[in-house]
Amino acid sequence: MGGSFDVVVIGGGPGGYVAALRAAQLGAKTAIVEKDRMGGTCLVRGCIPTKALLQSAELYTEVKAGAPFGVVVDNLRFDWPAAQKRKTQVVDQLVKGVEGLLKAGGVTSIRGTARLGGKGVIELDGDQLQARDIVIATGSAISRVPIPGAELTIDSDRILELQEVPKRLAVIGGGVVGMEFAAMFAALGSKVSVLEMLPQVLAMVDSDLVAVYTKHLAKLGGEIHTNSKVTEVAKSGGALRVKFSEGGQDGAVDADQVLMAVGRVPYTQGLEAEKAGVKLERGRVVVDEHLHTDADGVWAIGDVIGGIMLAHVASYEGVCAVENIAGHQRTPDYHAAPNCIYTDPEIAHVGLGEKEAKDKGIAVKVGRFPFAASGRALTLGQTEGYAKVLADPESGKLLGAHIIGPRATDLIAEATLAIQTGLTMEQLDLTIHAHPTLPESLMEAALAAQGRAIHVANRRTALPSGAAGGAASPTSGEANQVHSGAISGGAASPTSAEANQVPSGSPTGGEVDQVPTGGMAATSSHRGESNQNQEKPMAATVKPSSTPPLVPSAITRKALELTRDNKDFLLGMHRQMQLIRRFEERAQEQYTKAKIGGYCHLNIGEEATVVGGILALKPNDWIFTSYREHGHAIARGVDPKAVMAELFGKETGTSHGRGGSMHLVDYGKRFMGGYGIVGGHLPLAVGGAWAVKYRKQPDVIFCMFGDGATNIGAFHESLNMAKVFNLPVVWYCVNNRYGMGTPVEKASAVADIYKKACAYDMESIQVDGMNLREVLLKTSEIVEKTRADSEPRFIEALCYRFRGHSVVDPDKYRSEEDKVKWRKADPIVGFEHELEKSGLADEEYFKNVRVEIDNEVKDIIQYADESPDPKTEDLYKYVYAGQWDNDPALRAERV
Ligand code: FAD
Repeated sequence: MGGSFDVVVIGGGPGGYVAALRAAQLGAKTAIVEKDRMGGTCLVRGCIPTKALLQSAELYTEVKAGAPFGVVVDNLRFDWPAAQKRKTQVVDQLVKGVEGLLKAGGVTSIRGTARLGGKGVIELDGDQLQARDIVIATGSAISRVPIPGAELTIDSDRILELQEVPKRLAVIGGGVVGMEFAAMFAALGSKVSVLEMLPQVLAMVDSDLVAVYTKHLAKLGGEIHTNSKVTEVAKSGGALRVKFSEGGQDGAVDADQVLMAVGRVPYTQGLEAEKAGVKLERGRVVVDEHLHTDADGVWAIGDVIGGIMLAHVASYEGVCAVENIAGHQRTPDYHAAPNCIYTDPEIAHVGLGEKEAKDKGIAVKVGRFPFAASGRALTLGQTEGYAKVLADPESGKLLGAHIIGPRATDLIAEATLAIQTGLTMEQLDLTIHAHPTLPESLMEAALAAQGRAIHVANRRTALPSGAAGGAASPTSGEANQVHSGAISGGAASPTSAEANQVPSGSPTGGEVDQVPTGGMAATSSHRGESNQNQEKPMAATVKPSSTPPLVPSAITRKALELTRDNKDFLLGMHRQMQLIRRFEERAQEQYTKAKIGGYCHLNIGEEATVVGGILALKPNDWIFTSYREHGHAIARGVDPKAVMAELFGKETGTSHGRGGSMHLVDYGKRFMGGYGIVGGHLPLAVGGAWAVKYRKQPDVIFCMFGDGATNIGAFHESLNMAKVFNLPVVWYCVNNRYGMGTPVEKASAVADIYKKACAYDMESIQVDGMNLREVLLKTSEIVEKTRADSEPRFIEALCYRFRGHSVVDPDKYRSEEDKVKWRKADPIVGFEHELEKSGLADEEYFKNVRVEIDNEVKDIIQYADESPDPKTEDLYKYVYAGQWDNDPALRAERV
């Protein structure tokens, strides 16, 4: 069968078939070539058949242990052929399902062995296909070690076809595949011996989890020999003998079957990839960060490119590759690729591991929650294991999650989502988790990491490990103690020693810490010396209206500490940021209703930069701004009603509606937002500073502008002049990174804008504009220095506007990833977390503030709506400067 296609995928595994379906969705005429059965290794000989058989083993184990549950089965036996039959049915059904999906998706499925035949050509058993783009998804093959007697062993394909359960099974290789079969056959009664060359089986898993698994296997009569190199497999009587050397000593195990499970290697046999210009490196296809190979129009995904050889990663890469074919620029991001191991107990992990953190010197907070304390686990009768989380001690961002226990492979999904999207432990634990469920354990682990677990005692707050010297290793005892309360309402007390195995002890599973009696009430409070559960004295009352926060006479680090003494000020600033956010959101709506004309620029996302910058000023300081964003005015205390009325062009506006959305002046507040054009007000600020100096006043000119303004001549002239004449200006760049629509690094010769000021020998700093307290403190220090010596200084506040340059900006120049990344640094959310953590406010308070602000902004809009328009005959009043000089009534309006 020949034909011409947009995309041809070679290989019908989870990488290939998903890629083909996505390509067809994107409108490409797509074909997929598979030499065997659709579904690839995963469906036919990997993930699915193994899990089907493991399910049989699990059910058998459960029923065997059914008596305490009231399930009593006499003469229970395991019917291996029946399990095999069911496995085959599951596989067949899924293979058919994939074939059906491809057909329904409009993908042409072709049976055959493909090889690359030059640019855009696929040779196919005598036929030829043409394709604009080709995706290689040929997967991997079983790897073997050439030891004497290797031919006597079976591999992962053949073990799936065994006619009976072997009495003794030796497994060469302690990787995932080997360990899953070891767990399966141990559960079915085989005597299992594992031989692993490395010091630990499951090398990619944290050793404390492996210890739990090892111990469980030992209970079933299994044994693991680590540091053991197999030297030979030989026939011995009617069985096989596996010889190995363990730490210099020779050893041997006898077995009826020997499974060789030493990994998989990328598979390109017969593809003639190199002839077609595709580069191979030790058998794997080499791709760039967009999954493109060295050959034009040829892409590769899945096991064949090496890396993380898992089905879901192959599928993910398949989607990335074809989206790139369609013109996207997707770079696979593997930082939250989960790994699931279907042993008993199950193991799953995602993100950073504890040892990895230590090796890399990354400080982490660790929290654990044992399933022995989970109500759901107790009802299931599966209390072995625990959930462990690793988080950044500063930001609380979840970095890793590691679970061993019931349904760990399902539980990991929540942690994966959290890590992928950069959630913090607080966000995890503020999410309501259904009860009784296993995922509660993840929430509790996150709480435990913060020293406020509810259903285990917080013996002491988890300390940073990793860079800090690994204080939170499994042996450090920071894990929480199991209490009888469990997440169950206090009914279920772990009764057996096994149930009480808390991972706090040695890597061998550590015997129980204490198991106090008592219910829920007893679970958290009586370890007074370190209990953190009382840390949240709630909560602040809501202020009736948004008066600007009362700023302390001196902004010092102490004045900004998250303490009760500073509470009013801190909550006032939070409220002001919320007011600006809501004001801007509603201004945008009013714009779409055509109540606001011209341009309309929003401060959304820049609240901390604006409030922190402006509150650093004294009442007599002057703000020169290109105005445009209304948050500047509101932060300065200009009446928000008058600001909205100004936007509406009403007589009650700050500039009597003559400035609209581009010019706003309030002399009373010394707010000079009279100049709406980019950077045009910088020379005016110099003039203002000159006047202040001339009059020998102690005031500072605070000149605010965006990053776009730093690329114009007026910027340089103004900085130069301010320096030459030692004028008291603080230049304040609100660097929201995109000017009008061009990224700073592309628009500016110097991407670090604060460095531009160095050219004028000016003190110049960069601050995190998403962090309110930092902005305020540092700005205040700079402002006061300038007040003291009349030297100009420069501040660059790094922030990000969450909307486009103006309301009408379609904002297509920023990637979704960029936006999502920055949204996670939302300055208001960040500040709320600080307030909440310190017990100064809680979610209820924030909710109330939001409701109040919402109502306030509704009033503001109503006020603007109902305000009178300027009279036609007065339309030019206030507009021309000369009028101010000549009209005493107007002059009186000035300060
Ligand atoms: P494959 O699934 O290997 O598919 C490649 C396909 O390409 C094959 O069907 C092959 O016939 C075809 N092909 C090769 N060359 C050609 C050619 N020239 N022309 C036409 N067709 C060709 N992963 C998990 O995520 N979870 C698990 O639980 C899991 N369990 C596993 C258990 C076992 C026992 C094994 C062996 C693997 C397991 N894996 C698991 C790994 C998983 O199966 C692979 O990572 C996954 O199948 C890789 O997908 P792929 O599409 O890259 O390649």
